[in-house]
Amino acid sequence: MENDKLYQKCISYLKTLCEEIPERSVGSKGNRQATSFLNKELSALGWKTKVSELDVIDWEDGGATLQVADQSFNVLVSPYSLGCSVQAPLIGVSSLEKLERQDISGKILLLYGDIAKEQLMPKDFVFYNPEEHQKVIALLEQMQPAAIISATSRNAALAGGVYPFPLIEDGDFDIPSVYMTEEEGRKLLSCIGNPAMLQSRSTRIPARAYNVVARKGGNMDERIVISAHIDAKKGTPGAIDNATGIITLLLLAGLLKDYSGDRLLEIVAFNGEDYYGVPGQMDYIRKNQGHFKDIVLNINIDGAGYKEGKSAFSFFNLPEAMRALANDMLARFDGITEGIQWNQGDHSIFIQHGCPAIAVSSQWFIEHIDSQDITHTPKDNLDIVDCCKIVEIAEALTWLLRK
Ligand SMILES: [Zn+2]
Repeated sequence: MENDKLYQKCISYLKTLCEEIPERSVGSKGNRQATSFLNKELSALGWKTKVSELDVIDWEDGGATLQVADQSFNVLVSPYSLGCSVQAPLIGVSSLEKLERQDISGKILLLYGDIAKEQLMPKDFVFYNPEEHQKVIALLEQMQPAAIISATSRNAALAGGVYPFPLIEDGDFDIPSVYMTEEEGRKLLSCIGNPAMLQSRSTRIPARAYNVVARKGGNMDERIVISAHIDAKKGTPGAIDNATGIITLLLLAGLLKDYSGDRLLEIVAFNGEDYYGVPGQMDYIRKNQGHFKDIVLNINIDGAGYKEGKSAFSFFNLPEAMRALANDMLARFDGITEGIQWNQGDHSIFIQHGCPAIAVSSQWFIEHIDSQDITHTPKDNLDIVDCCKIVEIAEALTWLLRK
C-alpha cells in the first residue's frame, strides 16, 4: 500500500520533470522551472531550503552550412560555440604532432582521426583534464584558425551516446566550431587546400540557474550529503540522466520528513553536471571550502532506475561500521547489488575532498559506460525507467539513513 503510493508519486514526478518541463539544460527556462518545482516540493515536505544563484549561458543553435567548391557538407554547431561567417582555405590535421607543425592561422581547420577521437575537456574544467587535451586547446588558441570543423565518431565515456559527438563543447573557448560524422569527414578530406565557406548561426545568451540545498535535523559538524544533478543535456528528456536522481531525493525527503537525528541531512540538487562549466558544483565547492571534513558521507544518485538489470550501489572509502551497515542493506533489498567503482559523477567531488561516498546508479549503465548509446540522446526518456527500482532505492537509503 505504502509502496503503491510511492510508485504513483514517482510516476507523477517523472512526468513533471521529463514531459511537462520539456528540457532542463542549464540556463534554459525548463531548468529554472525544475529547480523551482524541487524547491517548492522540498519546502512543502518540511525541509529548510536555500537556493544559490549561478551566472551561466544558454545557447541557441541556429544551424550551420559548409560549402567547398560546389559541394555542401552536413555540419552541426558545437554546443555553446560562437557563430561565424568565414571564407578561408581548408586545412586538415589528424594528430597533435601535426598540429604543432602546421600553419593553421586564419584557415578553416578540419580535425580528424587520432586528434578527434575523444571529446576535449572544457578548458576551465578542473576535475579531470588530460595534458594532451590542454595542449590541443592551447595550440588552437595560440594559432587562431578562422574556424574549426571536427569529424568524430562515438565516445560514450566522455560524450554520452551521441553520434557524431562534438569534439569541442565549451562556452569559454572562442574559436567558432562545428562537427560532422566520420564519413562526411572522409569526403571533406578530398577538398583540402580549396577555399571553404562556413556559416554558423550559433548564439550565446547570458542566463541564470540555481542550486537547491535542503536541510533537516542535527548539527553542521556531522553532515550526510545526499545529492543528484538536476540538469540535462540539450535535446534529451534526461529521464535516467538524471530525473530519477532528483525523484529519489524527493521520495527520500518525504520518507524522512519526521527525521530528527543528530546528523544533519543535506539534500543537494547540483546544477551543471552535464554542462561545460559545472557552475553548481563549483559554487558548492567554494561555499564548503574548509567544511568537507564535516561531511561523514555523500550519497550521489545518477543514472538510477534503468529498466534492465539491478540497481548498483558503489562504495568509496566507507569506514568499517558504515560498510557493515551497507552490506546489511544489500542483503535486505533484492534489487540492489554492489556496483563497480566509476568516476563520472558528482560523488567524485566528495571523494577528492576525502569524504566517504556511495554512488547509486544502474548496474547495466556503469558496466556499459563506454559503449551505451542512450545518455544525452532522445532515447533517455520515460520508456526506459522502472519506477519500482526508484522506490526500492529510496526505501533502502531511508533504512540506511535511519540507522
Ligand atoms: Zn548524469
